[in-house]
Amino acid sequence: MIVLKSAREIALMRRAGQIVATVLAELSQRAKPGVTTLALDQLAESIILKHGARPSFKNYKPAGAPYPFPASICASVNDEVVHGIPSSRVLREGDVLKIDVGVAVEGYHADSAVTVGIGEISPQARRLIEVTKQCLDAAIQAARGGNRAGDIGAAIQHVAESQGFSVVREYTSHGVGRALHEGFGLPNYGTPGTGMLLRPGLTLALEPMINEGRHQTRVKKDGWTVATIDGKLSAQFEHTVAITEGAAEVLTRLD
Ligand code: MG
Ligand code: MG
Repeated sequence: MIVLKSAREIALMRRAGQIVATVLAELSQRAKPGVTTLALDQLAESIILKHGARPSFKNYKPAGAPYPFPASICASVNDEVVHGIPSSRVLREGDVLKIDVGVAVEGYHADSAVTVGIGEISPQARRLIEVTKQCLDAAIQAARGGNRAGDIGAAIQHVAESQGFSVVREYTSHGVGRALHEGFGLPNYGTPGTGMLLRPGLTLALEPMINEGRHQTRVKKDGWTVATIDGKLSAQFEHTVAITEGAAEVLTRLD
């Protein structure tokens, strides 16, 4: 189901997006060797609650999930792609950490993710992170009113594959707003000029997941954490955007 948001609804998402951005800025600073992913989760939750908002991920249970997600952030390390559960795992020099967070304000959600290198990381890891960031930038550029979903997917795929990386297929970008996952997925690969028309009022979480090696993934024994099938690195960046007549408005960037 496609839900076009009113200006009032987008304003609530913008507020949620500012809190998301605040959390990610703070956690990116704190993510250092010796810190546990659980400590980052607790910090995130305290920031969200302090703002009078709600962590969207906590107790989220989509169809097919084995149990409700137990934390306020996803913390996925190295070969983990998405949906990593915060734990007593200690971050180490050279790790590649993906932090994903969602916040709800008066029932309206915003969703964003970053990848951060822990201490000194390898040149290849740095390149993967940089290219993944370029993938999200290209996705946002392509998310103009009147374009189609396939234009976004194609833009991401072109950037990733031209640099020798691959695009995760089993997980997608998605509608967001009245729910964390609002009704439809948008593949992060595709053919220009195909797929859903991007209309003003549409709100999307654009989230390319880019792998160093093969694009295939597997789910770990905890039933949530998604990892690359070949054990190689993965990176992700995500923003929630609102489609307008022209360039998309990024709702999860700090003002
Ligand atoms: Mg997310
Ligand atoms: Mg998302």
